[in-house]
Amino acid sequence: MVLNPRIPVQHQPQRLTPSNTFKVSSPALWQWRQQAIADLSQIQARSLVDLKQELDWLLLEISDLTSLDLKLAPAETQLIQMQVSLEKLQQLWQQRLAENIPVQHLTGTAHWRQFHLQVSKDVLIPRPETELLIDLAVEAARNSARLANTNLWADLGTGSGAIALGLATAFPQAMVHAVDWSEEALAIAQSNSQTCGLDQQIHFHWGQWCESLAGLEGQFAGIVSNPPYIPTEVLPTLQPEVFKHEPHLALDGGVDGLDAIREIVAIAPQYLQAGGVLLLEMMCGQDDAVKALLSAQGQYEQIQIHADLAGIPRFAQAYRI
Ligand code: GLN
Repeated sequence: MVLNPRIPVQHQPQRLTPSNTFKVSSPALWQWRQQAIADLSQIQARSLVDLKQELDWLLLEISDLTSLDLKLAPAETQLIQMQVSLEKLQQLWQQRLAENIPVQHLTGTAHWRQFHLQVSKDVLIPRPETELLIDLAVEAARNSARLANTNLWADLGTGSGAIALGLATAFPQAMVHAVDWSEEALAIAQSNSQTCGLDQQIHFHWGQWCESLAGLEGQFAGIVSNPPYIPTEVLPTLQPEVFKHEPHLALDGGVDGLDAIREIVAIAPQYLQAGGVLLLEMMCGQDDAVKALLSAQGQYEQIQIHADLAGIPRFAQAYRI
C-alpha cells in the first residue's frame, strides 16, 4: 500500500486556481512550514516521515518552489508564487490531517512515471509500484518477436488512464484501448490523455473488462491491468486515506480479492493474438493463486511472477499459446 506522493524529479506546477496567484514572503511561508512540521510531532498515529514528505509535496505542487528550495531555506526574503493563499494552505493541510484526505485529492494531481495526472475521488491514485507494469510490457514485447508486428494494446480498468498513457508512450506506433466501468473515471482518463498529448493514440471504452472490445478478438499484442484485488473484508483495514477516499470499485476484488483477476484471466485469451502477453498487478500473497488460475485456463504459457521494487511478488505475466 503506497500512497505517499513522490517528489517529482522535474516539478511542473499545476494550478489549483488558474486565475489567481498569491505572493507569499519566504519567511512567512518558512515559518508556516516549521510550525506545521513541529505540530506533526503531536500526531502519534502515523509515521512523521510520511507526513513531512506529504507536506513538502503539497508545497511543491502549489508553489513555484523546487525541491532544492525546500532543502535550503532561502537566505534572503523573496516572494514565492503560490496558487493558494497562506490561509488556504493552512486550511488544506488541516483537512489533510483531520479528514485523512490524500494530498493528491487536495491538489487534484498525482505524478506517475513522467506524467502529471489529474486525479479525483473517482479514480485510484496511481501507485509507484504500478509504474513497473510498463517496463514489464516493454520487456515482454522485446522478448517476443511475434509481438513486434502488432500495435494493439489494452488497459483494463484504466482509472486515471495512467497505464494507457504509459503504454502509448512506450509503444509510439501502438493504439491503446482503455476500458473502465466508471464513466467518471473515463472522463478523467480522457482529459489526462489530452493534457499529455496522447489522445490520438488511445481509444476509451465504457464497459466491463473485454466486453467493450468486441470485434477486436485475437488482435491484441498485450492486455495490461491493475484490477481491484483487495479482499472485501480487508478493505476497512486499509489506511483511512484509501478506505475513506479512494473508489471501492477500483479496490474491492470480492471475497478472496480475485474476482476481477479470474474474469480477466478467463476472457483475455479470446482477445490476445497468439504470443500476446497478459500482465496483471496483484496483491502480496496472491501469486500462487493467480499462477494456478493462469495454468488452469489452459491457453497460457511461460507463466511468470515478477516482484515490485520492494521485492513483493506483484505482477503476473503469461503469453497466449
Ligand atoms: N495497490 C492498490 C493499493 O495498494 C490497490 C489497487 C488495486 O486493488 N488494484 O491500495
